[in-house]
Amino acid sequence: SAPEGDRLRIAVQKSGRLSAPSLELLTAVGLGFAPAGDRLFCAGENAPVDLLRVRDDDIPGLVADGGCDLGIVGADVLGEFAAGAGVRPPSLLRELGFGRCRLAIALPQGLNWSGPASLAGLRIATSHPRHLAAWLRANAVAAEIVTLSGAVEIAPRLGRADAVCDLVSSGATLAANALREVATVATSQAVLVGRAGGLDAARAAIAGPLLQRLDAVLGVRG
Ligand code: ATP
Ligand code: ZN
Repeated sequence: SAPEGDRLRIAVQKSGRLSAPSLELLTAVGLGFAPAGDRLFCAGENAPVDLLRVRDDDIPGLVADGGCDLGIVGADVLGEFAAGAGVRPPSLLRELGFGRCRLAIALPQGLNWSGPASLAGLRIATSHPRHLAAWLRANAVAAEIVTLSGAVEIAPRLGRADAVCDLVSSGATLAANALREVATVATSQAVLVGRAGGLDAARAAIAGPLLQRLDAVLGVRG
């Protein structure tokens, strides 16, 4: 077994859309954890693998700076982090097939859509400012980006924005807020990320068989 201290640390979302499917996947690859309850740290019961349960936004940074070896996070959150200046982002190791959604532009009633140019001069609320900025640039549209950490879909009603750029899966939340989806900025799903520089030998020896079992599980799921 691995020497003391040589344990693999995996960052997962503590509570949110990716929490349950992330834990299910880790269970499916054979890892056992005691019920986590409210704890931040969760020691593996049958392998030298521990969980760190955090906000999803913290996961790319934790993996980038070596606080964790692997992480499970939305590709959208990874992309926002990677588009930031400074740190080398984590590597995308595997697409995991859950947490599928799209980052979409949506408009309230009364705003017409005839293409991206319809957004010129508008204030667009989003928690994905770098994705939105890149998309606006690619479409040669000048608009104001209003960065919010949550509750993006109610920004137009509050008068804080004219339109939104938000994550959508079924579309029910947009519909409930009388917003209509008009364009897709990016698609997303949960991904496994790892340190850009790779793992040291001891941790690579733990991760190797795990990734093999992961590939078998993902292969079966299709
Ligand atoms: P945290 O408290 O960890 O910061 P959060 O509110 O930022 O949580 P969630 O709403 O749980 O995050 O979403 C986590 C991820 O789930 C998103 O980054 C995205 O990849 C994925 N996702 C899938 N469908 C949706 C959806 N309809 N709306 C938002 N996120 C979705
Ligand atoms: Zn978050």
